[in-house]
Order: sequence, then C-alpha cells, then structure tokens
Amino acid sequence: MSTPELIDPYQRKVSYLRVSVTDRCDFRCYYCMAEEMTFLPKKELLTLEELDRMCSTFVDMGVTKLRITGGEPLVRKGIMTFFQSMSRHLKSGALKELTLTTNGSQLSRFAKPLYECGVRRINISIDTLNAKKFGEITKRGDFKKVMDGIDAADKAGLKIKLNAVALKGTNDDELHDMVEWAGKRGFDLTWIEVMPMGDMGEADRLSQYWPLSDIRKQLNDRWTVENIPLNTGGPATYVRIKETGGRVGFITPLTHNFCESCNRVRLDCQGQLHMCLGQEDDADMRKVLRDNPGDNQPLRDAINTAIARKPKGHDFDYSRQQIQGEMRRHMSHTGG
Ligand code: SAM
Ligand code: SF4
Repeated sequence: MSTPELIDPYQRKVSYLRVSVTDRCDFRCYYCMAEEMTFLPKKELLTLEELDRMCSTFVDMGVTKLRITGGEPLVRKGIMTFFQSMSRHLKSGALKELTLTTNGSQLSRFAKPLYECGVRRINISIDTLNAKKFGEITKRGDFKKVMDGIDAADKAGLKIKLNAVALKGTNDDELHDMVEWAGKRGFDLTWIEVMPMGDMGEADRLSQYWPLSDIRKQLNDRWTVENIPLNTGGPATYVRIKETGGRVGFITPLTHNFCESCNRVRLDCQGQLHMCLGQEDDADMRKVLRDNPGDNQPLRDAINTAIARKPKGHDFDYSRQQIQGEMRRHMSHTGG
C-alpha cells in the first residue's frame, strides 16, 4: 500500500507537523512573553496520551517530520515518555525525523535521552553570547546552564542549529562574534526576523525590527559569503561563510514571502490545528479527540477537512511603518 499524503488546495504536500506541547516556559524572552504570564490550566492542554494519538494519526496520514516545541518543550512534565513513545515511528520508518526547538536550559539532563529516542538534530535558541545581555533578554534565563546544555547536546552527538532573533539595539553588535563562534563549534546559525506575535506595543515591535537584508550586507563587509542553492520546503535560506565553513541562515517572514513552498501545519498546546502561523483560522482537534475515544476515523476526517482550508499565505507586513496582519496569539502558545 502506498503512503497516504496530505495535499492542500494549492497542491502543497503537508509532511511536517510542529507541535507545541506546553505554553509554559522557564524564560520570559521579552519579544515572546510578558513577564507576568497567565498560563493555561492543565485540563486545557492535550495530555501526553492525546498528543501521542494526534501525532501518530498525522504520521499515519503521511507526516514524516515532527518538531516538538512550546513554550519550552523540555519543561513539560513527562515529556521524555512522549519522545520515547514517538521513537516507535522512527523505528518503523514511517517518521523520518523527530526533532525539537528548545531554549537549551534542560539539555544537560535530556540531551542523551533525546539521542537515545532517535533525535539527531535540534534547534537551540540563543540570541546573545553575553551573559548579562542574556539575562536581560530572557529575564529568568541562566546563561551558563544554556551553555552547558549546548555542550551536552554536542557531546551526545546531536547536530545543533542555533536560532537567534535579530533585535535592533540588542544583539546587532554581536553578529560577527556569533557567526565566528557558531562556525568554530560547527553549528549552523539562523537569524529570525522578529515577528508581530503576542501583545507587545506596536512602537516596541517596530523599534526592535532589524531586517535581515541588513545582516546580509554586514556579513559581506567582514566575511567571504558564498550562496548556497535554495533548499525548498523550509522558510530559511542559507549562505556559507568561507572562513569558518559554517552556514548562516535567514528566516525572513516579513521581507520575503516563503509561503509558496510551505509544507507544514502546527498543533498548539490546546489541540487547535493552525494551518498557517500568520492567519487566525484553526481547527479544534481536541474536541474531536475527546468526543471519539478509541475511534480515529473522525480525527482523520477532521484533519482532511482542515488541510483543505490551508490558506495560500500570511499577511504580515511592516513595509508601511505599521504592522499589518498582526496576530493575537503568543508564539509560545502556537509554537515557534
Ligand atoms: N522555548 C523554545 C525556544 O525558545 O527555542 C521553543 C519555543 S520558542 C516560541 C521558538 C522560537 O520562536 C525561538 O527561536 C524564539 O526565539 C522564537 N520567537 C519567539 N517569539 C518570537 C517573535 N516575536 N519573533 C520571532 N521569533 C520569535
Ligand atoms: Fe520561552 Fe522560547 Fe518564548 Fe523564550 S522564546 S520565552 S525560551 S518560549
């Protein structure tokens, strides 16, 4: 029997599911969360069993890549049980990649067990190499703990990609240091433009905005930058830095529209399926799960119906010096 495929109305194959397993986090990065956050009550979240059922159904329907995110996925109680359980889909060959995006704070404990569950690559978010600045950005983060976590992940054999949010006035003076450090350590480094998520003031957001076109220009001033052919399916484009051999990526949701190659959907921690990060439309999978214990057909039908509604693209736009298409949701809720 051939593997089923999820195809959206624009003939894009949906093979990648990102799952937010919690809205909670041990950090309060200023572009992501307010300092005083009210988190969801536990009953609102999908249980680990529900997450398993949901992800397994997607895998059964043709999803081959699963990224676990949050909030901070590694602060979700019992999350390693979930990873262990998902590893069965890697063993069967149905799932090609099981991965996660993390702030690195828990990696000292979890890097090795993650590797043992079949995780081979992870994204670690770090916006600065300066411990003081790190404290200011994350409010509660412990820089040393994250650095130890990165070392532990490296030692465990996990391939590391670093994600840095480009923040004018905050880390724009560290571009070359970060490129050099990541290159030396053998990590890819991807810069992400700050997106209009959550409920921060418009003035703040615009003043933080450091366009990646500017980063590209600055890279050329210091390094020999080699273009790498476009890799399809993901939002990042990459260049290689000749001197370090490392790759530097750019995720430019605001200056470059990558929607035409979008292959993903997102499940938030309450079980709402978001067909596009930049549109409000979602589909309530939790209700379908809870209304139909032991019968996955209604869930499959609901997934098919939702995919048939996947929109062509998002409407984020800073170009007229005001934010259009702004989302009410926090990134930590939907998963970055
Ligand atoms: N806690 C984990 C972490 O920080 O990697 C996973 C969740 S976090 C929401 C996922 C990614 O979203 C991180 O790389 C973070 O920097 C990014 N992010 C959060 N808020 C953002 C924003 N407003 N604009 C752009 N990226 C953002
Ligand atoms: Fe937490 Fe990640 Fe958001 Fe920072 S970006 S507050 S680490 S969820």
